[in-house]
Amino acid sequence: MAGPCELKRQRRSWAEPYKIKVVEPLKMTSRSQRERAMVEAGFNTFLLNSEDVYIDLLTDSGTSAMSDRQWAGMMMGDEAYAGSRNFHCLDKAVKDFYGYRHLIPTHQGRGAEHILSQLVIKPGDVVPGNMYFTTTRFHQEHAGGRFVDIIIDEAHDPTAAHPFKGNIDLEKLRRVIDEHGAEKIPYVCLHTTVNMGGGQPVSMANIREVSGICREHGIRIFLDATRAVENAYFIKTREPGYENRSVAEILHETCSYTDGCTMSGKKDCLVNIGGFLAVNDDGIADAARNMCVVYEGLHTYGGMAGRDMQAMAIGIEESVESDHVRARIGQVEYLGEQLMEAGVPVMRPIGGHGVFVDAAAFLPHVPADQFRAQALAAALYVDSGVRAMERGAVSAGRDLDTGENRIPKLELVRLTIPRRVYTQAHMDVTAESIIDLWQKRSQVRGLKFTYEPDQLRFFRARFEPVGADKVLDDGCGCAASQSEACAASRVS
Ligand SMILES: *Cc1c(COP(=O)(O)O)cnc(C)c1O
Repeated sequence: MAGPCELKRQRRSWAEPYKIKVVEPLKMTSRSQRERAMVEAGFNTFLLNSEDVYIDLLTDSGTSAMSDRQWAGMMMGDEAYAGSRNFHCLDKAVKDFYGYRHLIPTHQGRGAEHILSQLVIKPGDVVPGNMYFTTTRFHQEHAGGRFVDIIIDEAHDPTAAHPFKGNIDLEKLRRVIDEHGAEKIPYVCLHTTVNMGGGQPVSMANIREVSGICREHGIRIFLDATRAVENAYFIKTREPGYENRSVAEILHETCSYTDGCTMSGKKDCLVNIGGFLAVNDDGIADAARNMCVVYEGLHTYGGMAGRDMQAMAIGIEESVESDHVRARIGQVEYLGEQLMEAGVPVMRPIGGHGVFVDAAAFLPHVPADQFRAQALAAALYVDSGVRAMERGAVSAGRDLDTGENRIPKLELVRLTIPRRVYTQAHMDVTAESIIDLWQKRSQVRGLKFTYEPDQLRFFRARFEPVGADKVLDDGCGCAASQSEACAASRVS
């Protein structure tokens, strides 16, 4: 097997296509401080204080670094209550790059999901989609609908090497239509990329075919466009016929097969807050503006400040630049490749916004109902101060009918990479800690609930280790993660 040096020589090094103008110092913590912090956080990385985190890979949501141009745009905020200049800039950016006719700004993605779901879903409806997303499914169910998963089977297999694991299974779609009838299906929810499936993309061919089936039956398609730019990059690099098309062109074509989108601006759009609903239908747009006024804010700001809308308009433009997307996805790949090389079980291929570690394969000694991914994320924080997040049984919640824990096929720890924030060296530190944990994985304990919220429980749940007081019991209590004693105790 090639060593890391040889591999480095094979690939031409690349560096981030930006330089650093402002730095944000990080606090270095000791292992005993992190053990204490983890207990206080109830073994839920969502409940840690950011100050106690060294490298924060909890999410790529709202964590992007803005460019100097975006910060300059912040100074151009027109904070008028109505008809802000910045709204028109954002409106133009969404029309230019996503191509929809009407923009309804919202405070973030779930604001758009709420409005869309309330407007088009009736009790008893079914909403097929390529894997669920937490807030999306919540709003669909809250409006009386039921989500039906129609993603291809490969998506549920962490080792399947399909290049477009986010694709919709056309047979499953046809079956749902046959079974329920088109009138019970308000829309097909198409995620690009598929967050819960590991940031896996959908091919243009698949989008085109899904669109054809939907048109044939008079069913709408709404895109979850949260990471449609990253999806476009995968199409460019993996789908024959698209290699010479720009990311912007591919994004535009993607949207052209759909009737509108919900968008969390906190991801692709390179801003810290914001989102939107965009639709082509005049009637839906009008009704959505009326709902926006009630739940979000006036229809020309929807919960965002003028400056936020300006930063998002500029962020949208920057997000489709090829150097940016290549470096963004390249950095994620760089981390993923190091883990794969060390034999750590990760979701393959590496997705767009993060590396997803297969916690079920990582911790085969921990039973499924002891929340393996939650436990692994807690152990990773204790080991190195890297904060990851659970995407498995805790996120999946309980079955609506039986009240039992849903045990999803994928039990993942998500190492989500913020855009333009961390360097390659941060990726190295992260990889080293996970590889260490892989060597001493038998020392990681399972968890049980001490507090379980009714909705979106993963955000605020609390746990304790099963039959032990530590989640990672490796007898390594030394003061600093970098200390010699600690390094010596690592199995090499
Ligand atoms: C983040 C996200 C959302 C929700 O957006 P928020 O801005 O967090 O409300 C919806 N869908 C997907 C795929 C997401 O990743």
